Amino acid sequence: MKTTTSKNLAVKKSSAKESESNSNSSNSSKDQSQLMELFVDELKDIYWAEKALTKAIPKMIKKASSEELIEALESHLKETEGHVKRCEQVFGAIGKEPKAVKCEAMAGLVKEAGEIMDETEEGPMRDAGIISAAQKVEHYEIATYGTLRTFANALGLDHAASILEQTLEEEKAADKKLTEVAESSINAEAATA
Ligand code: FE
Ligand code: ZN
Ligand code: FE
Repeated sequence: MKTTTSKNLAVKKSSAKESESNSNSSNSSKDQSQLMELFVDELKDIYWAEKALTKAIPKMIKKASSEELIEALESHLKETEGHVKRCEQVFGAIGKEPKAVKCEAMAGLVKEAGEIMDETEEGPMRDAGIISAAQKVEHYEIATYGTLRTFANALGLDHAASILEQTLEEEKAADKKLTEVAESSINAEAATA
């Protein structure tokens, strides 16, 4: 069984090598430059998004009631300011000037967060709405940084990949923290009901 598998792999490998040398279709320099273009476009998008969040998160903090939620948002606001700087470092690592291009997705998520805060009564219900909006933001960022890190690795941009990885981990931790806040506030609500 084992021999067959490795034999198949060996065959596949050599045929892949053959087609590469024949047509030069996979992993060509054209593919690499298109991937680089995608990478830069995505970086400009998240750079805009992070800057927008440094203005949106303070509004969420003002509208939040729970101490735990306020603390979580304040600590992530500080991290978000660091994410803006890290984006600039990634631009630097690829020899480009930082440039932000409006992220329609993040603009939409921020707009919806505002609507949720307007439509809910101050207190636990508004807090629940803020958490749901904030987690959608984190998931968008996790998707983007995961993609950017993978692209950076594929492009051999090791330094950029490690910077992106650091932000990715902070976004994941922020999302996890928000889940904890949601669970503990729901528990607290149930206890007083
Ligand atoms: Fe971020
Ligand atoms: Zn976008
Ligand atoms: Fe974030």
